[in-house]
Amino acid sequence: MNSSKDMLIDLIKARGRLSTEEFMAFCLTNPEAGYYAKQPVFGQKGDFITAPEISQMYGELLGMWLAQCWIEQHRPVKFTLLELGPGRGTLMEDLLRATEKVSGFHKAMQVQLLESSQRLREVQKEKLNKYEITWLDELQKLPDQPLFFIANEFFDALPIRQFQRTGDIWFERYLVIEDGSLVFSFSPQEKQVPENITTRHDIADGGIIEVCPGAVKICKFLSKHIEAKGGVGLIIDYGNSMSKGDTLQAVKDHKLVNVLETPGLSDLTAHVDFGALVRAIVCETSKLTPQGQFLERIGITHRAKALSTNLRNDALQLHIAAHKRLTHPNEMGHLFKVLALYPTFVKMPVGF
Ligand code: SAH
Repeated sequence: MNSSKDMLIDLIKARGRLSTEEFMAFCLTNPEAGYYAKQPVFGQKGDFITAPEISQMYGELLGMWLAQCWIEQHRPVKFTLLELGPGRGTLMEDLLRATEKVSGFHKAMQVQLLESSQRLREVQKEKLNKYEITWLDELQKLPDQPLFFIANEFFDALPIRQFQRTGDIWFERYLVIEDGSLVFSFSPQEKQVPENITTRHDIADGGIIEVCPGAVKICKFLSKHIEAKGGVGLIIDYGNSMSKGDTLQAVKDHKLVNVLETPGLSDLTAHVDFGALVRAIVCETSKLTPQGQFLERIGITHRAKALSTNLRNDALQLHIAAHKRLTHPNEMGHLFKVLALYPTFVKMPVGF
């Protein structure tokens, strides 16, 4: 037993049960027991590796993409450059370095980060210390100006609710304690089932679907802002165009582990239901595009070749492997998807 698990058990004893959403929120963002509050989570030494940690090309290309959108929207003289869930700050660092030479971009930007973990805020502060950065405590405090945002593997960390079809009734999945152990069980009562679930006639008896209320809320809010003030958003995550099945998973030391084995000590994520995000978004959206295709279209091969000229031996092999890992359909190229948000009054950004 670990102390996070003890705290979780105490919480369930006090409340009787926790929804999957409450369980995930506790395990990831509880300030004392949560995963992001404590662990060296990313990179080779952490539990998992994300695209910006694989190669500098990733943040550089996304930075140039954002700058291109900014230019196409006639270079607003002040705008918010927001990253949701910046992790170690690597993507933002690469993005800012790459856009330094884009005339007027840095002068116009106001960099803001949305980060729930105090520990990661410190890491980001250190990594980005040559830039003026502020942390947003809540999205409602976004400045009244165009918004250019990026969210890489942020939405998969937001807590989900899970529902199971049992005949014509949907049961919600809860975490309870049985004989002293943590177990999942389905609530025998129909309870506040979101409406768009009950119309999913494609789910067989016993089938599970997931909803992410936090993601829907954030997308609605940010897209309203973009439609009203201008800007773009880029969401990159693993997932698909609709929710089907139980996708909640835990990863520790680069391996899948049982979701209930090490709460607070393993990363918990769920596939992003991009269809639900698109339905919540009030501005335009791009086609949902596989990461590999998107990166190829915005020039990763060109950038990879340019960087490779100074590399030899092992460094060159690592660089080639990183390019492949980001783009190949059998690696991150297909599972990860890209969705852009943009105002109805501008043309669709490149890459889609
Ligand atoms: N974008 C980074 C990190 C992805 S991990 C990368 O690609 O490497 C998820 C990030 O989102 C972490 O920084 C985590 O602390 C943050 N996060 C998770 N839930 C959050 C929430 N509800 N509000 C703000 N940040 C959150």
